Amino acid sequence: MIVKRPPLSLAERLYLPAIWGGFKVTLRHFFKKKVTMQYPEEKWVVPEGYRGAPYLVRDQDGHTKCVSCQLCEFVCPPKAIKITPPGPNGTADRANAEKMPREFEINMLRCIFCGFCQEVCPEEAIFLMKDYALTGASRNEMIYDKEKLLALGGVHQDRIQKWKHKAEEAAQQDVFPVKP
Ligand code: SF4
Ligand code: SF4
Repeated sequence: MIVKRPPLSLAERLYLPAIWGGFKVTLRHFFKKKVTMQYPEEKWVVPEGYRGAPYLVRDQDGHTKCVSCQLCEFVCPPKAIKITPPGPNGTADRANAEKMPREFEINMLRCIFCGFCQEVCPEEAIFLMKDYALTGASRNEMIYDKEKLLALGGVHQDRIQKWKHKAEEAAQQDVFPVKP
């Protein structure tokens, strides 16, 4: 069967209807509100409670809050956290804390931003922040060490500074010793 093609007009042979159709689409979008974001200079504002990258925080006195209990390391599903405990002679940099980690690493390539580490931490020392775009030139760069995690985490304003209460309790017990 031979399909008969209708002869093209002069305008069709010059592609004028197709060009006009394309211009109509361009004009329609030209007057709409711009939605293109200039990433990475512009970034999305993420809502409160967003689960971004986990970082360590310091208390308002500048001390490391983490006491190296290793609960977060134990609970982390993809084993992204690696903590090196302080050893028998290790000390903490604040009163009423037995120890602090010698090294604390999070492999951001493994982290799934689940928030389990934040939930289990008894010291409120690790928080999921709002960073969602982590980049690095190598795999090693994506393993964040303790200093980097603390620098990114910043200071957490504690409402309850339980180590200070412990110190006050101890001082009071010195003045009013508990009778056996
Ligand atoms: S957010 Fe989840 S995956 Fe990431 S370090 Fe914490 S526990 Fe591990
Ligand atoms: S971040 Fe919290 S849970 Fe993890 S080792 Fe430090 S104190 Fe323990």
